[in-house]
Amino acid sequence: MTAVNLLDFDLDGLAAYCATLGEKRFRAVQLMRWIHQRGEADFDRMSDLAKSLRAKLAGVAEVRALPVISEHRSADGTVKWLFDVGAGNAIETVFIPEDDRGTLCVSSQAGCAVGCRFCSTGHQGFSRNLSTGEILAQLWHAEHSLRRAGVSRPGPDPRVITNVVMMGMGEPLQNYAAVIPALRVMLDDHAYGLSRRRVTVSTSGMVAKIDTLREECPVALAVSLHAPDDALRDELVPLNRKDGLAALLQACKRYLERAPRDFITFEYCMLDGVNDSDAQARALLELVSARGPAGRVPCKFNLIPFNPFPQSGLKRSPMARVQAFAQVLMDGGLVTTVRKTRGDDIDAACGQLAGEVQDRTRVQERLVRLPLPRVGASGRGAAAQQRG
Ligand code: SAH
Ligand code: SF4
Repeated sequence: MTAVNLLDFDLDGLAAYCATLGEKRFRAVQLMRWIHQRGEADFDRMSDLAKSLRAKLAGVAEVRALPVISEHRSADGTVKWLFDVGAGNAIETVFIPEDDRGTLCVSSQAGCAVGCRFCSTGHQGFSRNLSTGEILAQLWHAEHSLRRAGVSRPGPDPRVITNVVMMGMGEPLQNYAAVIPALRVMLDDHAYGLSRRRVTVSTSGMVAKIDTLREECPVALAVSLHAPDDALRDELVPLNRKDGLAALLQACKRYLERAPRDFITFEYCMLDGVNDSDAQARALLELVSARGPAGRVPCKFNLIPFNPFPQSGLKRSPMARVQAFAQVLMDGGLVTTVRKTRGDDIDAACGQLAGEVQDRTRVQERLVRLPLPRVGASGRGAAAQQRG
């Protein structure tokens, strides 16, 4: 029988497991602290744990880390790990240090079934959901290996990772059941103790699940928008065909009633000649304004210059175009940032997380080729008009 992985549990789950061993809830609290706060995996070294409990755990339970295939450090301090999740699948996790925070970008699936046109994970297809333990093993390994390597932040707090974003491989809301306990452990004061504002779920826009997340575990929400109208969004983000933009924006509005931040972050991948015209920026302003389908949606825009990969057939918008697009949004009163590309030298940037995916979904057959306009200055306006 395989051992129970204690990384699979949030505090309630761990307490329930302890109960099956005839142990009280405070034992679960102790275990949680040893495992997540101190990075300990060896029960024998958990010195204040009763010997009898250590004996019960031996052989039946374990803290199952993920095997590390590789670790790369970028010149800018970004660290990327490739973890083996078995059967030929590998996932990626990225640590991004900044002056005021340390952010970990975590994967939720081996591959992704959404199949966005501009995403290298999407192009690789889908193998399977990660378990709660596999999601948390990324944070557990990153936090404690960085500490052991001497990485630290100013001040007495030993934590290196101050923010978690579910922006690695996969669509977190398509793996909802495993993601929720993982989020709870990130938030738990006996584990990582991150505030809800510092844990972000990024979604391509699964409307029903945005509503359940709001009820069960409202953390900061980022929504990958990428287009101002359904015609273009249907092509870039195939799951848009299910609910459409109006329903998505209404869900965002509902989410704000419970969200730890008073705005939604809209991510927008800047694709040359596809979604980067001034007219499209104005359409976005309209979409989130009082005249839009959900009324005014308090939001910020985060523009991500597209990170190209060979099979995409797409190009990054020129920086001047990104700036001009941002200016239209800002002139319309929206806070807009342009994401700095980090870890470029180790392929750790957004959408470059390729890992290794044993596709079971025939993604190459599914991914319909966009009828792309000719990339270049003349094609841009035409693209916007074509889709009207
Ligand atoms: N599946 C979730 C989270 C993972 S993707 C989602 O789609 O939101 C994280 C972010 O990277 C998303 O905003 C996604 O649109 C963006 N992204 C994907 N591929 C990219 C690429 N090639 N260049 C730039 N950003 C990309
Ligand atoms: Fe999946 Fe997100 Fe990539 Fe789309 S952008 S394919 S939802 S990981």
